[in-house]
This record gives sequence, C-alpha cells and structure tokens, in this order.
Amino acid sequence: MEDISTMPVTALHGVGRVRAAAYARLGVHTVSSLLYHFPRAYENRGDIKKLCDAPGEGKCALLLTIGTEPKCTTIRRGMELLRFRAFDESGTASVTYFNQNYLRDSFVLGNTYRFYGHVERTGKQFTLSSPVAEPWDEARPLPGLCPVYPLTDGLSQKQIAQNIAEALALARTGTGDILPDDIRHDYRLSTLYFALSQIHAPGSFEDLAIAKRRLIFDEFFAFALGTAVAARTTRAATAIPIKDTELAPFLATLPYTLTDAQKKALDEVVADMRQSVPMRRIVVGDVGCGKTVIAAAAMYLCVKNGRQAALMAPTEILARQHAETLMGQFAALGMRVALLIGAMTKTQKAAVLRGLTTADPAERIDIVIGTHALLSEGVAFAAPGLVVADEQHRFGAGQRAVLSGKCDGAHMLVMSATPIPRSMALMLYGELSVSRITGMPPGRQKVDTFAVGESYRTRLDAFIVKNVAEGGQVYVVCPAIDNQTDESGDDGLMPDDMPGEISFGAALHGAFEPSDGENGNKPPMKAAIPFAEELKARLPSLAERIGVLHGRMKSAEKDAVMHDFATGRLAVLVSTTVIEVGVNVPNASLMIIESAERFGLSQLHQLRGRVGRGSRKSYCVLVSDARGENARARLRVMTSTSDGFAIAEEDLKQRGPGDFFKGSTKEGIRQSGGIRFRLADMCDDLDLLTDATAAAQKVLAKDPTLTAFPALRRSVAEMFEVESGTLS
Ligand code: ADP
Ligand code: MG
Repeated sequence: MEDISTMPVTALHGVGRVRAAAYARLGVHTVSSLLYHFPRAYENRGDIKKLCDAPGEGKCALLLTIGTEPKCTTIRRGMELLRFRAFDESGTASVTYFNQNYLRDSFVLGNTYRFYGHVERTGKQFTLSSPVAEPWDEARPLPGLCPVYPLTDGLSQKQIAQNIAEALALARTGTGDILPDDIRHDYRLSTLYFALSQIHAPGSFEDLAIAKRRLIFDEFFAFALGTAVAARTTRAATAIPIKDTELAPFLATLPYTLTDAQKKALDEVVADMRQSVPMRRIVVGDVGCGKTVIAAAAMYLCVKNGRQAALMAPTEILARQHAETLMGQFAALGMRVALLIGAMTKTQKAAVLRGLTTADPAERIDIVIGTHALLSEGVAFAAPGLVVADEQHRFGAGQRAVLSGKCDGAHMLVMSATPIPRSMALMLYGELSVSRITGMPPGRQKVDTFAVGESYRTRLDAFIVKNVAEGGQVYVVCPAIDNQTDESGDDGLMPDDMPGEISFGAALHGAFEPSDGENGNKPPMKAAIPFAEELKARLPSLAERIGVLHGRMKSAEKDAVMHDFATGRLAVLVSTTVIEVGVNVPNASLMIIESAERFGLSQLHQLRGRVGRGSRKSYCVLVSDARGENARARLRVMTSTSDGFAIAEEDLKQRGPGDFFKGSTKEGIRQSGGIRFRLADMCDDLDLLTDATAAAQKVLAKDPTLTAFPALRRSVAEMFEVESGTLS
C-alpha cells in the first residue's frame, strides 16, 4: 500500500512535467493534495429537460439524438464551425461548436448523447452553442452531479476529472482516516474515503451534503487544534511579570468604586500580568459598562513596574478623548502620557517618538495613546510592557495578529464593546482569554426607547426643543452623509478612520439586508448634511446650535465640532455613525436615529449607548417608515431590551450567521487568523465549528502533542503553514 500523501501527481496517468507544473500552480503537488482540489460547483446534468421545456436562462441537460451528419465549415480564416442537428421528441436543435472540428468524429449519426449547455430559442428554433456532450448508454448511467473544478492554463475539466478518478482509486486503499474513530462516531461523520469520493463524484445531493459535513468538520478540527497549539506558542514567549500590584493610589483617583464585574475583570487582568507568559486577553462588555478604567488600571500597574504602555483607539476622536481623560488622571500619579496621531506635525511626532525610546526613565513617556497608526513602523519603546487595543471590533483579525506580533513579549489587552454571542466569541477570539463585564455601573438609568414613523416628525421636533430647553443635548444619526452618497458606497456607515482592512466588526454593524421584500418600497435614506439644514429651518431658535459631523470632514473640523458639542456650545449634533464608537458626552440625553431600518441591531445598540451616560433621563427614538415585518421585528427588539448580549444573540438569530457578518467581510472571517478554509464557512457552519472545537479539546487533553495522530499533525501544520515539529 503506497502512501498517497507523499506520492507525486506525476505518478498518475497522463501527468508529466508540464501538467505537474500546472497542478503546482493550483497548489497541488501530491496525489492526496489533488483529492483536496475540490470542485467549485456542480452541474446538475441528471435533471434532463425536454427541448421545448429548456429554460431561457442558465444551462440545462438534454437527451438528444444526432439527426444530421456533423459538418465542418470554415467561416473565415481562423474560424471553423462544426454543425449538426439533434432532436428529442419535443423538437430539433441546431448544435454548433466553434474551432472544435476535432469533435466531429465523436458524434455518430443516430446515436444519443447527453448535452449540457445553454439553449437559445428564437420562435421554434433551438440553438445549442458548444454544449458539453457525453455518449448516452441506458445500461451505464452517467453521473447526475458533475463537478466543476477551478482551472489553470494547461488543465481542462476532463483532465482533472480523470486524474481525480485515478487518485480516488488509489485513496481507497492508500489513505487512512485522519480522525480518531471515536470522534467520527460521536459526531456522526462519514469516513474520509466516502467524503472524498462523494465530493468529487456525488451520487446525490444528500451524499454530497454528508461528504461536505465531514470535510468541513476536518477543517474546523484542524483549525481548533492549531489555535490551541498557537496559544501554547504565545505562552512560550516571555513577558516581564509585574511584581507590584498595589492599585490603591490609582483607585483613589477615581470618583467612584469599581463594580463587582469590573473588579472581577481587573483581577483576571492583574493575574495575567503577574505571569511571565504574555497576557492575551479581551474584555468584552456593553457600551458604557466601564472598560476604560480596567485598561487604565492595567497601564498604571505596568508603568508602576517600570514599563511603558500603549493604548490604541480606532479613531483619532477617541484617541484624543482617551488622552484628555487619562492625562489628568495619570499626571496626578506622576506618570507621563502622550498622544500620537496622524494629525500631529512631524516635529510633534518626533518628540513623542524620542520620548518613547529614551533610556532615561525621568524623560521617558510612560503611556502613549494613539490610533492603529501606533502599529506603523518607527514606533518603538524603550521598555514595552503592555499594549491595549480599545474597541477591538474595529480591528480586523489580521491587525490583531500584527499587534500580537509587535507585542511579542508584552502583555496585550483588547477591549470590545461589541457584545458577541457566546458561540461566536470562540472563533473570533480563539487565541484570547475572555473576560465579560456584565451589567452597568450603578446609577445608570435605562434609556427609554421608542420606534416611530415620519408622522411623528412634529412631535419629535418639539421633543428636541424640550430636551435642549431642559439643558440636555441631542444626537441625530443618519445613515448617509448627503443625498449624493450612493447607497452601496455606504459612505456614511463607515467610521472616519477605518483601518485599511475591513474587519468583521464592520459587518456586525452593517445595515440590514433588505431581505424581506422591502426592496421595492424602501423609504429613502436620511442624510446628515441636508437633514441638518432642514432641522435648522424647522427649529430657527436652535439653528445656531445645530452642528454636523461626518467622515468626509477633515480631522481638525471634526475635532472642532466634537469639542463644541462636548462643551455644550452645540446642542444638537447631526451626524453619521462616526460618533458611534465610544464617544462620551454625559450631558447628551436624546438619541434620534433616522432611517433606523438601515442599521444592524448591534449598531443601533451601540448608538443608543451614546446617551444615558450622565444623570439625565435619556431617550432613544428610532425613526422608520419601513413596513416590512422583519424591520418592525428588529425595532421591537430595541424597544424591549437594553442588554447588549441579548441583542447580539437576537441579531444572530434573526439574520442568521451569514447575514450577521455579511458581504465582503465574510471573507475576513473566513481568513480569521490568516487561515483559509477550502470548504468551511465560519458563518454558515457554526454548529460544526462548535462540535469540532469540543472534539479537538477532547483529543488534545488525551494526547497534547498528537503523537498518536501523525496525519492529523500534518494537516494542522499544513493549515497553519508551520513545521509539524512546532506541535511538540
Ligand atoms: P466603555 O466600557 O463603553 O468604554 P467607559 O469606560 O467609557 O465605558 O465608561 C463609561 C462611563 O462610566 C465613564 O464616564 C466612566 O467614568 C463611568 N464609570 C466606569 N466605571 C464606573 C463605576 N464603577 N461607577 C460609576 N461610574 C463608572
Ligand atoms: Mg470605551
């Protein structure tokens, strides 16, 4: 029995140097890797139609008998045509092939073939151009589902199919099952051979589904094993453990005491930082639950122990805001805090960079606050100790990996205000330990939430005036910047400082899919700039105190507006979702969300979190004229609960994992942690991921180095592109 995992593809019939090179371009080198070159689609050639029933769109299968002798003609130079007529009981078609005259001898007058292609119909005339044709023999039925493979120059579908058929015959004896038997039984998975043979030549859709399930499980299983091993590798790096964990001086600067949930999270952080194993922890908690203070406490301890800390925010607005609050607090503790953002001058930046690297602790900057630009080249630390990434949902998995790499021996703390459903946390933060802050600091009041239609406009305007008259402030959020913003551009939906990579977070916060037939009567989308003008016209008494904020403004303009709002000069801020992330103006008491159906539940929740931060009774009004039942149901969730974790679960339930992370961003998840799955889709196959993770833990508990499973070791190593020796 030969081992097909080491057998080169050239061992197969008809594969020489040239074809092997073509296979290499597809990443296929061995016979077993050829078996993992999965079809990208299947043609349903088993569903045979009559000519007269052939659909006008797409391809279909037909059983036709050759009615005229195939004829070759040359239309003009370099353009040859093979043509004949073929019929079934419902009609006759003209079949043509361009520049494939060599096919002529494969068609025999009077014989029947299964054709697969697009049927064009003009009146009673049917035409089939270059269909796939297979000789039909009642005694030897053709497969119904035919694989379509990704191709490259020098390889045809037919060649790949032939090579794979031979590889499958070898696999029948030449491959063991990489999964332990008990796991296979526990999770009701088919054998590997069945899965591989059915994925390439499915007997039915049911068998194909069984095959896919097994192969997807394998991918997740290897992923879960690899993640566990990667976590072990992080643990192999050494960080400087903090010794002095006395927090009293820091806590004394706070005007409040920590909640039990905060204390617990902080205890976990401190426990991590006492280790020489670098901390890799994420603190997840609803908007306003008080995560910043956890980060600040960690930074305090870090500096107190002679190291430096960095705090990264997703936007410059947030970075500045953190700097403002923390500078005061830390100055009182004798610690030096600096801001480093793109808007600063070269000289200013250089001064900060110098302060970070200076060897003299007396001159040294202890804490630097900035955006993700802190990750860029040129930022170095004399004594790195801790990196905090705030509002992690704006950072992609890739950036987290870069960050983690930069941190190397430093402790790393990530803060996420996106309450992620438990089932998702695992795949998103597989390599991180999770602390959850549940509940809110005391005195926080519930934000009363209402969903209203356009007919409430006059009352709503009056409500704005009343709030301002009572000394409160008002946010109005619109999904677009101006009426020119094209919907797909989503200009207004992006944060101003979006990192280059589109992260899953953007999807979490994406707009609803208009999936419930609301397409046709979707109300127009409100836009910040014109809305602000209209509002000024309707409320002349407030006109002077209405401001606009959106992502197309220059950083300095945004800062000026934000500052005016924070100081109360502006009473009403009409904006896009740039204000979404973490902005804190405790005096704001009314949040109005226009075209509310355009936002995801989790995003609505984030926006609502901007109010109710101070002592004022606060309100959130969702304005929407969308009539679709789905839209109404989503808005009802918002009016009935304020628990972010519950809302995220509901979002997931209503939209399904696929829509929960929708569109291009799905790709971002697929590659979570740089891993590419061939078949598995983290969104659609969530249940299998959960199973596979549990199975992986079971196996690793018994056999931490996978000694008993060399094939498994190899597939994990392949997936993570590491030497399988690393698994020890
Ligand atoms: P988030 O978790 O969204 O980052 P913040 O850290 O910005 O929330 O905290 C929101 C507000 O709650 C801040 O004004 C902060 O000072 C306040 N806060 C945090 N913890 C407490 C507490 N234990 N008691 C009272 N107020 C608190
Ligand atoms: Mg925050």
